[in-house]
Amino acid sequence: MTNLRLRLLSYIVMAYMLLAFTWWALLLFTKNQDAFNAKSELMKIGMVAEGRVTNNQEFEQTIDYQELAKKYKRQEYMIFGEACVFVITLLTGLWFINQGYFREVKANQQRRNFLLSITHELKSPIASIRLVLETLMKRQLPKDKTDHLANSALKENERLHELVENLLLSAKLETAYQPLFEAVNLAELLEDLMAKLADRHPEANIALEKKEPFPFVRLDRYGMTSIATNLLENAIKYADGKPSLEVELSAVDKKVTLQFKDQGPGIPDEEKKRIFEKFYRIGSEETRKTKGTGLGLFIVHQIVLAHKGQIQVLDNEPKGTIFKIEIPIVE
Ligand code: ADP
Repeated sequence: MTNLRLRLLSYIVMAYMLLAFTWWALLLFTKNQDAFNAKSELMKIGMVAEGRVTNNQEFEQTIDYQELAKKYKRQEYMIFGEACVFVITLLTGLWFINQGYFREVKANQQRRNFLLSITHELKSPIASIRLVLETLMKRQLPKDKTDHLANSALKENERLHELVENLLLSAKLETAYQPLFEAVNLAELLEDLMAKLADRHPEANIALEKKEPFPFVRLDRYGMTSIATNLLENAIKYADGKPSLEVELSAVDKKVTLQFKDQGPGIPDEEKKRIFEKFYRIGSEETRKTKGTGLGLFIVHQIVLAHKGQIQVLDNEPKGTIFKIEIPIVE
């Protein structure tokens, strides 16, 4: 049975329960009223026979009658209270069903997005590498052309490698990831990665700012490499025009602070929280220009959490995004 049908069925059952209970509550009210009327009538007849009262007014002022009226009023309040508890419980159940339903819809949408993007991301580098190899085998080309082709195949291979790394890492992050703390010189690690990135993107403007000399700190080298690679690649990938990117690094107050500042299109406020969800990408798969899987920032976030740190997304000036990461230094 589909989710929608199940949801509809649960609504119908709940509506029926609500109606049935309202009916039972009303019935209980009238029966309670009837019982009270009958009992007070009996009491009045008794009192008149005994000569204790002569009319209705006197009867209503007797203690016996007032005690009886109080008792039945209490019963009315009880019925009303029970009805309120029942309605609140039912509405809470309805709210949970709705939440579950929307979560499921969102997860399905993400899975669909993921499948669409992963298919392209896996197929396109494989096809390009194959084309390059076939061209190289079939034709004798001048050295500069061969170099150019080999270079593009290498870039595609790198893309494929990063994608597979991200896929494996995200699976691992959900099951068995434990940071392996070792003394790392983060400044050196970043310089290395940024030099490689600058090689691959000579058009990009990439700069590192650090407090000299940067100390060795205990971190997971693999995790840090993955954080930096994903954030650096994103800054280049989402830049509109010539990518401009600055990384700031400091180790003060027993924490490492890392800031990746780009001059790209920026991230709208309503998306800032969602971008760390697994497979989440801004926009729909059909309207997006850039390719990706929506795993990068999920991985970054999980690794930061595993280091007991925090990550913030801020707006850069005059435009662009700042990813600010703070990680406590482990002694
Ligand atoms: P992917 O890049 O594979 O789509 P990510 O998890 O790395 O997945 O990013 C999630 C989304 O956040 C991206 O789809 C993109 O829209 C947005 N995003 C990430 N980094 C930046 C950035 N530096 N500038 C603008 N948008 C970004």
